[in-house]
Amino acid sequence: MIELHCHTTYSDGTLTPRQLVATALAAGVKALAITDHDTVAGWPEAYEAAQGTGLEIVPGVELSTTEQGQSLHLLGFYPDGDRLQAQLGDRMAGRWQRAKTMVARLEALGLPVTLPPLPPGTAPGRPHVARALVAAGHVASVDEAFDRWLGDGKPAHVPYDRLTGAEGVALLRECGAVVVWAHPFISHGGRLDTLLPELVAAGLQGLEVIHPHHTPRDRRRLEEFCDRYGLIPTGGSDYHGPSPTPKGSQESVPLNGLGVPWAWLQGLKALSLDPRPPGRSS
Ligand code: AMP
Ligand code: FE
Ligand code: FE
Ligand code: ZN
Repeated sequence: MIELHCHTTYSDGTLTPRQLVATALAAGVKALAITDHDTVAGWPEAYEAAQGTGLEIVPGVELSTTEQGQSLHLLGFYPDGDRLQAQLGDRMAGRWQRAKTMVARLEALGLPVTLPPLPPGTAPGRPHVARALVAAGHVASVDEAFDRWLGDGKPAHVPYDRLTGAEGVALLRECGAVVVWAHPFISHGGRLDTLLPELVAAGLQGLEVIHPHHTPRDRRRLEEFCDRYGLIPTGGSDYHGPSPTPKGSQESVPLNGLGVPWAWLQGLKALSLDPRPPGRSS
């Protein structure tokens, strides 16, 4: 019924917000969160496209942080968009710098690539570089680009800025967001026991329980952690657009395929300071 984790062309998704809204409607989604990496630039187009359709847009963001050299992603729902945008300015500049550094590394490795022009407000990420590697014919697929060159610790990987998980939680809370740890079993499954209490102390409010990378066992463990720490569950497909290859790691799950319960949206809204669309007073 609902999708609380989706990307658009404003970060590394392949559909524009308008196309994403159309795809969600066709799939029967009732509420759709726009959670681009480190940017909220996709919201206005999504609101406009959803107007009058009955589809509820949930404004969000997926903030990139780093813990022990590995990326840790935080979802922030219903943040104050203006405050967050101001906070994210630096991070956006950091992402452009990082993308250039990765391109330079690839060049030094004998793999010259050119990033395509990206619209203003776009947060460039490794997937953009991966697609450029495919386009240049250096690898056959985005997966291969990550496996050989861009994955964590691979030769052209440049780690993201020095924001820790706890700092990221604080930043999002300062902007009024409800903060949820995205896909905890990617990268940090083995450290949940130690990392989770730290993030909860920093103000974490929920766990992404349903995610295409989580096994049923992962899901049960996360539900136990929700009970233990009084956290809300969320879920989504982490949709990046229709899959070019069935194997694509995050792109293989269609929208509305995971059955995220409607009631979970109500839990999220109950924690939010202002669960209204931005710029609307009623
Ligand atoms: P970045 O935030 O620039 O480090 O890029 C991280 C994004 O790259 C993730 O959100 C995924 O969309 C994508 N990604 C990470 N690992 C892989 C992989 N092995 N294959 C394909 N895409 C990946
Ligand atoms: Fe992504
Ligand atoms: Fe993520
Ligand atoms: Zn994501």
